[in-house]
Amino acid sequence: MSAETVPPLQRPCIHCGDCARACPAALDPQALFFALVAEDWPAVQRGRLDACTECNRCGEVCPSHIPLLDWLRWGKTELRRQQWMRERADAARARHEARKARLSRERGQREAARTTRSAQAEVIARATPDQAGATVIDKADVMAAIARGRAHREALARAKRSPAARRDDKDTP
Ligand code: SF4
Ligand code: SF4
Repeated sequence: MSAETVPPLQRPCIHCGDCARACPAALDPQALFFALVAEDWPAVQRGRLDACTECNRCGEVCPSHIPLLDWLRWGKTELRRQQWMRERADAARARHEARKARLSRERGQREAARTTRSAQAEVIARATPDQAGATVIDKADVMAAIARGRAHREALARAKRSPAARRDDKDTP
């Protein structure tokens, strides 16, 4: 490996402020770098990472050769990933809520139908024959039918007996 391809040795930040002075977007790359190292995402957001144009002026002037642009790009990717995860979780939550609401609505409809059915059954059970539309059978008609049936059976029984016995029946006062 030639001397030109060997990356300069990275050293700790000396807080010189050169990166901030070089930034055309008026950002503080040093502060963003420390926030990214600590994964302090609220601080990264406050530092307006999204405003970085990735021009790498900060990295070029850094005397400690800190790969600021790599850190800044990683931070942007990570923020996009987090945003995507949030949207996915929101969508899943919305789907879950919609399903819960649909199931609850369907349960309510089933319960309402069940209540209606049992109320109808109760009304029919309590209804008088007229209200239920049933035919009203008179008790006298029932008794008359029973008497007719009995008379018919007795007539049949008499017909089966011998002529002499039938004659005796007639002679009996
Ligand atoms: S890469 Fe971003 S933070 Fe660095 S100087 Fe350019 S705009 Fe500023
Ligand atoms: S230029 Fe480099 S050393 Fe100086 S403050 Fe920025 S990150 Fe630190």
